[in-house]
Amino acid sequence: RYRFDALLVDAAVDAGATLITGTPATDPMLEGNRVTSFRVGEATVHATWVIVADGVRSTFGKKLGRTWHREEVYGIAARSYASSTHADEPWMHSHVELKDEDGEVQPGYGWIFPLGLELGQVNIGLGALSTAQRPAKINTKKLLEFYAAQQRPEWGLGGIEHVTSALLPMGGAVSNVAGANWMLIGDAAACINPLNGEGIDYGLETAALAVDLLGPKDFTLAWPAVLREHYGESFLLARTAARLLTYPQFLPIAGPLALRGPIGRMLMPAAARLMGNLITDDDRDLIARTWRAAGRTVSSLRRDTPLWDSTAAWSPSPSCL
Ligand SMILES: Cc1cc2nc3c(=O)[nH]c(=O)nc-3n(C[C@H](O)[C@H](O)[C@H](O)COP(=O)(O)OP(=O)(O)OC[C@H]3O[C@@H](n4cnc5c(N)ncnc54)[C@H](O)[C@@H]3O)c2cc1C
Repeated sequence: RYRFDALLVDAAVDAGATLITGTPATDPMLEGNRVTSFRVGEATVHATWVIVADGVRSTFGKKLGRTWHREEVYGIAARSYASSTHADEPWMHSHVELKDEDGEVQPGYGWIFPLGLELGQVNIGLGALSTAQRPAKINTKKLLEFYAAQQRPEWGLGGIEHVTSALLPMGGAVSNVAGANWMLIGDAAACINPLNGEGIDYGLETAALAVDLLGPKDFTLAWPAVLREHYGESFLLARTAARLLTYPQFLPIAGPLALRGPIGRMLMPAAARLMGNLITDDDRDLIARTWRAAGRTVSSLRRDTPLWDSTAAWSPSPSCL
């Protein structure tokens, strides 16, 4: 990830971008819902267009009115690094039956990404799903310690380091993601897949889509329409399916059935394909057709659910006026 981020920065600079690091963009000034300027340290920047990619907390986006809907499913995740005697293992490992110290199954999953011999480490973390109505009562850092302890013998793990955790708005469950000349992309626009916590590809894709839209058009409605066209049905479906995982009873009952035996052998390849976002519009097989049909049905049933909409009562935060 460090290397990938560095490659992106280098590519942007090679293409003519001016890189400013260590100083956040702050204080957007608005005329109506058009950003006229913002500050970077002591400097005032006047921009024709503003693409906001300030991540999951989106402090700049919040000033512009971005609102997160916690009644929709969201993620809580923690990640860390540990030395491992199996850092060269070629496969990522996932554990979907995540148990706490009392042996209770928790509504989430753990992962171990081997990072290769050169680093001699693995990325070990876990994520759980939550809603305002059914908050996952998990201390992610404590659970991560316990998960690492369980995996320690098999993976030859050292102590976990650099533990970070975050709340992750997902599946487009935010409002006010665009104004006349600005757009929110990536995590700031809650473009994270609710079934697998994946967000890097959506960050890149939404960046490319936003650049394609640049021009004289007002983005206020155009940008949410682009997001809905590309991700609306699949995000809504994934958000709805992910709600099941917020019921503590669901995994203990469905997990063993889905993972083991003949049903498991049938379900797992399909689940891996759905969770990995590997179904394209060109796929014509039964799973792909069923997934798309379910997406259309859920979209029409949940027409009123928040999905990058512009709220009628929306007005920018007074501090920015
Ligand atoms: C524990 C965990 C595990 C994850 N695992 C995966 C995974 O395996 N695969 C996957 O695809 N995704 C994963 N994700 C999600 C993925 O990390 C994000 O979806 C992705 O990084 C989003 O990219 P982004 O550019 O939108 O935001 P970020 O990567 O968060 O980048 C935002 C950047 O903006 C900067 N910033 C913030 N405010 C300002 C400001 N005011 N001015 C200037 N700069 C600012 C921040 O410092 C940061 O560098 C995971 C997330 C977590 C928390």
